[in-house]
Amino acid sequence: MSRPSIQLIRGFKDILPGETELWQHIERTAVALFEDFGYREIRIPIIEKTELFARSIGEDTDIVEKEMYTFGDRKGDLLTLRPEATASICRSYIQHKMYAQDPVRKFYTIGPMFRRERPQKGRYRQFYQIDAEIFGVEAPYADVELIFLLRTLFERLKVTDTTAHINSLGCPACRPRFKDALADMLTAAAASLCSDCMRRKDRNPLRVLDCKAPGCRETMRSAPSILDYLCDACRSHFSTVTDMLTQLRVPFKVDKQLVRGLDYYTRTAFEIQTGALGAQSAVAGGGRYDGLVGSLGGPETPAIGFAIGLDRLAEIVSLNNPAAVRKPDLFIAALGEPARKLAYGWSTALGLAGISASMDFGDKSLKAQLKQANRLGADQVLIIGQSELDAGAVVLRDMAAQTQREIPVKAIVAALIETFCKPGAR
Ligand code: ATP
Ligand code: MG
Repeated sequence: MSRPSIQLIRGFKDILPGETELWQHIERTAVALFEDFGYREIRIPIIEKTELFARSIGEDTDIVEKEMYTFGDRKGDLLTLRPEATASICRSYIQHKMYAQDPVRKFYTIGPMFRRERPQKGRYRQFYQIDAEIFGVEAPYADVELIFLLRTLFERLKVTDTTAHINSLGCPACRPRFKDALADMLTAAAASLCSDCMRRKDRNPLRVLDCKAPGCRETMRSAPSILDYLCDACRSHFSTVTDMLTQLRVPFKVDKQLVRGLDYYTRTAFEIQTGALGAQSAVAGGGRYDGLVGSLGGPETPAIGFAIGLDRLAEIVSLNNPAAVRKPDLFIAALGEPARKLAYGWSTALGLAGISASMDFGDKSLKAQLKQANRLGADQVLIIGQSELDAGAVVLRDMAAQTQREIPVKAIVAALIETFCKPGAR
């Protein structure tokens, strides 16, 4: 009896050829945009000390409370698969004293994140983020730049059904007053809150603002707005952000219920939402975290960043862009071992010249090989058997035009390179 095959872990997924072309297209578009705006790539480890995330994301958040993949290594150190990239980038910024030469740094990174959430459409336990961060700029121009970049990226990917929701979360000077007002309101409305929010209202009342439970959403409509509690500095920061977005013609919606799931945010918070994804409507989120570098042991450094959910973005982009799968430039149908050996050498030489030549290594009939060429989408097929070898010439058949021409075996690679490298030949 054969043994049962092994399946992947729940909440994890394979990204297969057919999808990867689309992912590459998105990643290339993002990287090109970031580089044009002066961002540089940083790659950070997938595992960090648990303490890094506990201290930065916050003990009272869903992520730290119940979503992290944490394990003891063989010496007993507590390690965690990263649930997001910002904390690691801050750690790296501090550890390498990147602030010493020039505190202003712009980074991007792309890679997998891990959160043990309930798997469903658009929500995985390993998912991917495209992340960008600006360190060392307190001015609201950094906030505007990031929101503008998100808008531009989505436009370049032909994703138009998106709205930028923005809010300010204030700062340690003004947020406590808002928290108190919110807590009072929540105590009065306690009967209508879900059980999670009953707990949140005392420990982290801001979190109640973005509870998805219908009862809580309804109740929170009459919640006070943090924008009424901002100190002068935070109010002026926020109004420059909205002014500049208007000037750059970036549409946005001020959303007083927008908070972020991580504790480290201050001032501007934003989320890109789309109607295309059903319940998981957020395709990107971000905000300012002016206190984080300082709280992780670095010098006080203002910073801001965003993370795009690449899985969700790929899903939206696939709705209006069929993946561009590269077809072979030609298929070489070889009949018999001597022809196959020769043809294999040709296909290798063509590959090195950037021309993709597919062939079959089995002993299939010409008919079967032509079928295969068709399935792969090769427009041209080169046919070589013993009689072609004897005659010293092979046939190149254009499948669509139903025409063919003979090419001498001698110097065939050069002839093919010339054929396929002609402008418009591919
Ligand atoms: P959500 O409200 O959907 O849980 P979040 O606020 O937890 O999102 P962030 O931490 O802001 O998400 O991460 C930024 C983006 O990463 C999200 O907008 C989303 O597109 C994506 N994302 C977050 N969690 C997941 C997940 N489990 N699976 C797929 N994508 C995710
Ligand atoms: Mg979440």
